[in-house]
Amino acid sequence: MDSILLRARGTPDSQSLTTYLAAGGYNAWEKVLQMTPEAVMNEVTLSELRGRGGAGFPTGRKWSFIPKDHPGPRYLVCNADESEPGTFKDRELIEHDPHLVVEGIAIAAYAIKAATAYVYIRGEFGRWATILGKAIADAKKKGYLGKGILGSGYNLEIVVHRGAGAYICGEETALIESIEGKRGFPRLKPPFPAIAGLFGKPTIVNNVETLACLPHIINRGAKWFASIGRPRNTGPKLFCVSGHVQRPGVVELPLGVSFREIIFDHCGGIRDGHTLKAFFPGGSSAPIMTADQVDVRADFDACAEAGSMLGSGGVIVLDDSVDIVEAAANLARFYAHESCGQCTPCREGADWAMDILERILAGHGREGDLDQILRICTYASNGMTICPLGDAFSMPLSSMVKKLSGEFERRIAAASRLPQKKKPVLPWSGPLPGFGQ
Ligand code: SF4
Repeated sequence: MDSILLRARGTPDSQSLTTYLAAGGYNAWEKVLQMTPEAVMNEVTLSELRGRGGAGFPTGRKWSFIPKDHPGPRYLVCNADESEPGTFKDRELIEHDPHLVVEGIAIAAYAIKAATAYVYIRGEFGRWATILGKAIADAKKKGYLGKGILGSGYNLEIVVHRGAGAYICGEETALIESIEGKRGFPRLKPPFPAIAGLFGKPTIVNNVETLACLPHIINRGAKWFASIGRPRNTGPKLFCVSGHVQRPGVVELPLGVSFREIIFDHCGGIRDGHTLKAFFPGGSSAPIMTADQVDVRADFDACAEAGSMLGSGGVIVLDDSVDIVEAAANLARFYAHESCGQCTPCREGADWAMDILERILAGHGREGDLDQILRICTYASNGMTICPLGDAFSMPLSSMVKKLSGEFERRIAAASRLPQKKKPVLPWSGPLPGFGQ
């Protein structure tokens, strides 16, 4: 498949409006301005585009949740927070083709009849915030944004909003709170953002890559887009491959190729002298997959059938040198740090799992530790928390403990053979005076 989303990578001066226009840029936007918002929504629904940010929800359907008769403002938010570990595709799109992202934002805003769109970009991404800001200003100067766009009656302003760099602000309701100037605390749902989102108004949050697909869908048609990939899993996808491969980076392939093709054909395979042990197929919050699952198709449905998820498409590859207990402890540390603290199962659970794993690493593992980790994961997942961070730490941890249990058990068994420290006698050991004596 020729590059579609990354076609500008390698083109000199690809960030400039002149280069973008020379390659047919903003043609889709001009076409959209001649269509009704409903027709745009219908075209995107027919393309079967699914959100590229992690959940894989159908984009056209998500847009359709905006109440049709809502009289006041509604908002589009482009989620450029890209906080999931192992994910770096949105930056690549903004770096090489910022106007493609701006054009996608304009198309989505038009489809949901929004006059203001926000780009929420994490604070650390100063470079990409500047690139986008310039692209927006240049597009506005040429009349592609602003008031009465290209002689139509449609107005659109795009505002770039930099966050302060918190994992949880990639979650759409925390992101909305952050734009509103509040602490990035996820909101209880319902109401969903499509009903009451930014400033209490109907809001759609779409990922950068999702939006970048829109100009191509409008230019080449929903049928063309749906012909790429597999049924229900259509279109090109950016996979960010990191870890122990020969050539890490962002590769663009149709949804439905196998992980073997991604890792071995496009990223040069595992580094010399090592073999594949396991991989996270969709960022660090996806359940881990082991080497025997490398032929699973990289699409939303196949990953779900295999007990994991495609997530953001961040493929983190681990070779046989990786200590899985260390990797699990590292993940637990990250999620314990990033928990916003609103829900007990997430706040306490992530911390507790981290403590147990660090104790195992320190050589003090105990019988029952693995059951305890699995119990913590059960309590923090399956809708027991306000937002999916509970699942985000539970799913990879529980999958690592279940699928690679041997490595954890060996560490714990080795600990039981070590000379154990004598238990300290605490001054308050024994029954308290006056209680049951
Ligand atoms: Fe905060 Fe965790 Fe609850 Fe999400 S699940 S709202 S991050 S405490």
